[in-house]
This record gives sequence, C-alpha cells and structure tokens, in this order.
Amino acid sequence: MYDVQSIRRANPIAQVIQVSGVELRRLGQRLIGRCPFHTDAQPSLVVYPQDANYFCFGCSAGGDVIDFISRLNGVGFREAISLLMGASVEAQRRADTRIAEMPPRFRTEPPTEAEVRVIDATATFYNERLWCSPGALAYLALRGIDRQTAREHQVGYGAPGLATYLRRHGLRLDTARSVGLLNGRRETMLGRIIIPELRNGRATWLTGRTLGEGTPRYMNLRLPTPLLGLADVVGQGAVIVAEGAFDWLTSADLGSALGPRAMVVELAAGIHDLNDLGRSADGWRAFERCLELATTQRRTNWERTDAPQTRQAA
Ligand SMILES: [Zn+2]
Repeated sequence: MYDVQSIRRANPIAQVIQVSGVELRRLGQRLIGRCPFHTDAQPSLVVYPQDANYFCFGCSAGGDVIDFISRLNGVGFREAISLLMGASVEAQRRADTRIAEMPPRFRTEPPTEAEVRVIDATATFYNERLWCSPGALAYLALRGIDRQTAREHQVGYGAPGLATYLRRHGLRLDTARSVGLLNGRRETMLGRIIIPELRNGRATWLTGRTLGEGTPRYMNLRLPTPLLGLADVVGQGAVIVAEGAFDWLTSADLGSALGPRAMVVELAAGIHDLNDLGRSADGWRAFERCLELATTQRRTNWERTDAPQTRQAA
C-alpha cells in the first residue's frame, strides 16, 4: 500500500516536471510548457499546481505526478513511485532484470561523432541532476568521494528526464538507443551513479553503478569499454591503477587530497590485495610490516617537496 496523497505532497508536480527537463512558464494559476509525450511545436502542456495534476491539449496525456513519471519513463505505477521516492533497490532490481533480458549488442568500433554528442549531453544532464539528488550525494559521501572530485570527473545521477533533455538539445533518441542509454522509452541508467570517461573535457563513454546491491552492479554502454582515465596518465611520474570505476574515483580523491603524502607500500610476494592478505596464514604479520614501512616512508615523503603529481587509471 502506498500513501499516494503524501507522495503527491512530497513531490510538487510543477517542480518534478521542471526537474525532468520541461521548461515551464507561469500563466496565472497555471504553468505551461512543451509536452514531452508528443512533438510539441507550441506549449500544449498545462500544469495545475493547486490540483496537483497536468493535462496536454495536444495529445490528451494527463494525470498526477505519479502518472507523469510513469509515462515519461515508460514504467508502471510502483516503479514510478520508487523513482519519486529515490529509486528503491527493489525497483532497481526488477528494472535490471528486464534490461538483462535484452540481447546485448556490444560492438568493437569506437563511438561516432553523433554518438559522442549524445553521450556528452547525457553526462552533462546527469551531472546537473546529481546536485539535486540527496540520496546520490549521500551515497557518494558514504563511499568517500568528495564534491570536488565528483565535479571534476563529472559524476552524475541517473534521474528521470534524459529523453526530454536530449530532444530539447536537438539530439536523436535513436542514437541514445543504439549506444544503450535508452531501451525503448525507458532510461537504462535510472537510479545509478554515472561515471563518465572524459577526453579533453568531453564525455565519450560512461558507466552506471547501482546505489544499492542490485545487479548488474555496473551498467555499461554498448560500446567498447575504455581504460578509465588512461588518456590523462600519459607522461605522468606516478600512476595509481584501480580495479573498478569506483575504486578509480576513490584513488582520484586520494591522489589529489594526499598529494606528495600519498605512499606506495610493496606487498609481500604472492599478495596482490587485501583479500590475499586476509587469506594468507602470515597475513597479519605482513600487514604489520606494511604499516611499519608506510610509517617510515611517510616521514621521508613529508620532507619531499618535488614529488611528481599523481594521476589515476582504472
Ligand atoms: Zn502531449
């Protein structure tokens, strides 16, 4: 059971429609804008904030805020509510199952210029949405990613409204579908943290990670997966290599926050990470040796002023 009234109250319809990428203009008690559900040359969408509903005089779409989100994302009632309440894990899991049923059509050719334009606009849209998504910001904070890093790496949040945004910027939805950003009308990255690959400030690829424990943990585009950040490390004195996209972001944080204080500790032979350390019979002793080594190195590193700048790749 859902308390529909309180969901409506918590999600003012005009605000939700605007956040979804529809520009609204006030006209007396009402607001008008271009309808996202049909090709709308003139503003036919009318929003009635006092009645908490909307109606389109062009295509007769209409209803409350739940109907709007449901129609916009091509999802049912329950999933629309989940999206409004901040993409619950359950809805995400169901959505993921549906996407996993699609035959993956991964290609080997790099993205075309038209595809990069769509991916870059998508990264911009999701990055803008991040700053008004408290759940996503809280998750980043929990993972130790600070705002500065999120801004620099154009990290985003898969909030609804991508299709409307792309259309408004004159970009083709079938291009978004072919790279895997849309599945029909459904936005595939909904409710995920978006981590893009930036080349000269432009997003050329992106991946979406679940906020919770849903699967797949990472949703990739139907394009070749790049080595994140590789372009930035060429010619750098020191490189941190991380396993996953999130580890990479974390290392980006470490690199910039610790700077010359960051230290590299060599692990014993046969031990590659903390998992190996835990499994090793001599693990605890090896860990202590690492700490001793790190303490000595830290003393040395603090005396250095000309340490090479650290960059990351994953
Ligand atoms: Zn319409």
